Amino acid sequence: MAKLTIRDLPADKLRGQRALVRVDFNVPLDEHGAVSDDTRIRAAIPTIEYLLNRGARVVLLSHLGRPKAKAEPKYSLEPVSRRLAELLPGRSVTFVESTDSDEAQKATHELKDGEVVLLENTRFLPGEETNDVGLSRTLAELGDLYVNDAFGTAHRAHASTEGVARLLKPAVAGLLMQKELDYLQGALDEPKKPFVAILGGSKISGKIDVIEALLPKVDALLVGGAMACTFYKAMGLETGTSLVEPDRVAMAKELIEKAGSILILPHDAMVAPSREDGGKARAVSRENIPADMAMLDIGPRSAESYSRAILSAQTVLWNGPMGVFESPPFDKGTRAIADAMAQATGKGATTIVGGGDSAAAVEQAGLASKMSHVSTGGGASLEFLEGKTLPGVDILDER
Ligand code: ADP
Ligand code: MG
Repeated sequence: MAKLTIRDLPADKLRGQRALVRVDFNVPLDEHGAVSDDTRIRAAIPTIEYLLNRGARVVLLSHLGRPKAKAEPKYSLEPVSRRLAELLPGRSVTFVESTDSDEAQKATHELKDGEVVLLENTRFLPGEETNDVGLSRTLAELGDLYVNDAFGTAHRAHASTEGVARLLKPAVAGLLMQKELDYLQGALDEPKKPFVAILGGSKISGKIDVIEALLPKVDALLVGGAMACTFYKAMGLETGTSLVEPDRVAMAKELIEKAGSILILPHDAMVAPSREDGGKARAVSRENIPADMAMLDIGPRSAESYSRAILSAQTVLWNGPMGVFESPPFDKGTRAIADAMAQATGKGATTIVGGGDSAAAVEQAGLASKMSHVSTGGGASLEFLEGKTLPGVDILDER
């Protein structure tokens, strides 16, 4: 079911109105407290600009980090407001050190058309994560309409993502939210075929539901990461000191049987005594993993065959790195997938990257702009692909 978006709102619903926008400004800060990666702030700019250009007054809400329902200076959004001001040249961007206060209310009423105010971290408030009705009511008074552009937190039913949207109407999706939903829903509902999914990362346990949900939809599901080792174990192979989840081996066996030829495991592995021993890395076939070594990346043969599969696909969905990409040379498999996907995009395929670490790997490789879509929501994209409803999306007005 499609959700209303800011594009569906007539001009008079925006001009002079206070748009309360939940954004995902949960960005990393460096040791000096400055924003070290502004990807998520930049991702919200189209929605903010769209509203400002139509004469709306923008009130921004976000969380940052995991403060324990009380003010913690190191999680203040103040540095974010400085970066935001740089990204909105010529606009008035102010910051208010509170959220559910009279001061915050007053600031929203003093805004003029085309001005922005960012309020303090919603997770400083005790009622945020408990989705408290009283807090939702207070937040609802901060705007005349509600916009959710925080896809990354849409899987949480919090006061600023769900409770407030029950009370403040219209409650619509922002442009980033819409883009996320369009790409992910498109891949699930009507993927151009062949549809290839690549799943990796550290743990099979967190991704079993995604594997189950994708198997009936994809033409091939390529597995990498430590996850592959649990499958190897299920096949009776030696996995050495690789990260294996012993309690998931039986389940992995079932999946292999159920999936048949759709589930593809790497034929070779890059092994080493440890991730610090990159110099000792070597490629072995999966039958030859030494007992005293760990698989830390897919091998070159697998990287090549996965790349070929990606290049023959029309829809490619990737979640989870192929190896310990943080420690070169174990970034090669991940890099190969990113390169192949970038090429596939150039050939007209729809390519989607979901998952925090995979997205970081793609950014690191400088290939983010070469993908059709890089999701800003790790956990949220995973839950969406599992087929779960996201409370922050569910509560928005229907088209
Ligand atoms: P995403 O955030 O993209 O969903 P995950 O969080 O599931 O990905 O997994 C990312 C982590 O998996 C990375 O920190 C990476 O080092 C780790 N990883 C990948 N392959 C291996 C491996 N073979 N052994 C141990 N860790 C691995
Ligand atoms: Mg991760």
